[in-house]
Amino acid sequence: MKINVKFHISSIIFECGLNEKPVSSVGEAIYRTHRKPNGKRALFAYAPIMFYNAPRGNPQPSVFHKEKNPKKFLASEVRQDIGDVIAYSNALFDMAIVERASDIHIEPSRDSINVRFRVSGDFLFIDRISHEEYAKIISRIKIMANLRIDEKLRPQDGKIAYTSEVHNENVDIRVSIIPVVEGEKVVMRVLRQDTSLLSLEKLDFLDSNMERIKTSLESRYGIILVAGPTGSGKSTTLFSMLKHFDPLENNISTLEDPVEYNIPYINQSQIRPAVGFTFAEGLRSLVRQDPDIIMVGEIRDKETATLAIEAALTGHLVLSTIHTNSAAGTIQRLINMGIEPFLITSSVKMIISQRLVRRLCPSCSARGVYRLPDGSLRDRVAEQLSGVVVDDLSAVDFHQPVGCPDCDDFGYKGRVGVHEVLLMDEAMHPLILEKASAAELDHKARELGMVGIVQDALIKSATGKTSIEEAMQLV
Ligand SMILES: [Zn+2]
Repeated sequence: MKINVKFHISSIIFECGLNEKPVSSVGEAIYRTHRKPNGKRALFAYAPIMFYNAPRGNPQPSVFHKEKNPKKFLASEVRQDIGDVIAYSNALFDMAIVERASDIHIEPSRDSINVRFRVSGDFLFIDRISHEEYAKIISRIKIMANLRIDEKLRPQDGKIAYTSEVHNENVDIRVSIIPVVEGEKVVMRVLRQDTSLLSLEKLDFLDSNMERIKTSLESRYGIILVAGPTGSGKSTTLFSMLKHFDPLENNISTLEDPVEYNIPYINQSQIRPAVGFTFAEGLRSLVRQDPDIIMVGEIRDKETATLAIEAALTGHLVLSTIHTNSAAGTIQRLINMGIEPFLITSSVKMIISQRLVRRLCPSCSARGVYRLPDGSLRDRVAEQLSGVVVDDLSAVDFHQPVGCPDCDDFGYKGRVGVHEVLLMDEAMHPLILEKASAAELDHKARELGMVGIVQDALIKSATGKTSIEEAMQLV
């Protein structure tokens, strides 16, 4: 029997958690392995071999060839033998959990298959394997996701409930497979089940915005919309608002596509348009279920919007998302869908529009203080901040990425939300009723105290949460 020694040794390193932090010497590697509380001590003798083999300057060996420079692969050769396919796929999921990856991409090209993670919006190249080895992995993924192994010509969607024994964490992995010219491309979204992370307090709202949100939630009726493009963290905001309420004291019901987080005591329904269970159909039934709070995954059409407004006008709090680029643009979008303006003014309570930008690494951001020099950048920043920040900008400390071992010299770690929160003030009503443009609505909302998304990002650059570059990219 052929044993892939390198695979097993590296998987030991991986399992022992040695790649959590770079190791500077063989001695330290042994020490840390030895000290591991779960005590895989019998294995520690292998550690030096792996470190001996590890490339210089890369003290983080693992099952995979990981390379943070997206332009090149650390793996110079295509892997012809991945060893045990079950161990390989488990290690892949475990690593995605450790790296906090949001998606795992497995992409066939002519000569090889590329494996990469999306982490904080960036791609991280992980491995390169042969087509022969990939055939085994994709079968394994299809089995885990209850998909047809023999179907190679049509797209398939499924879900894997994965328990990481290494990290003692449950995740749902949403699997999407689509045929491409060179085979089948797999994208797996990693959905963490740890709903304790869902909390308004953890979403980096400005104090003034947080106050607006809490007041709107307390009013217990009307519609609250979260706007933004795909991948802007809308669901996280929506669920964090839901978690503001005690599910044992309220009847909270949701219509979702897909169900991303399972929250105890909340009635969550997965819509199935193929059998006629659409958002609109679900809403019609839900209002007969005596709900207090209704969450509709997304408002995409007039029918859903109308039903959501009806529910709001009959004394329910309705939360939903909408695919628009700004808070003011959301009002215009509803009007364009054919919703009567007076229904908007009487039902919509608040619109949060948001984006995600890269978060500066907390360990090194303090060293990245940056004063804007004279010139066009300062002028552009000043233009954005007019009316919000009155200070002389030459005296304001903004931030730039620096880089340290904690962030693998990226300077960034994770992402931070930037928001604009529009409150439906009576002073907005005349403009909406006369179908004013999004620009006019936006202007009025700012007059009434709304901080715009770019302004929020610039304020977060001044408080070290993101960089001035990230903020200005939103303009
Ligand atoms: Zn750092």
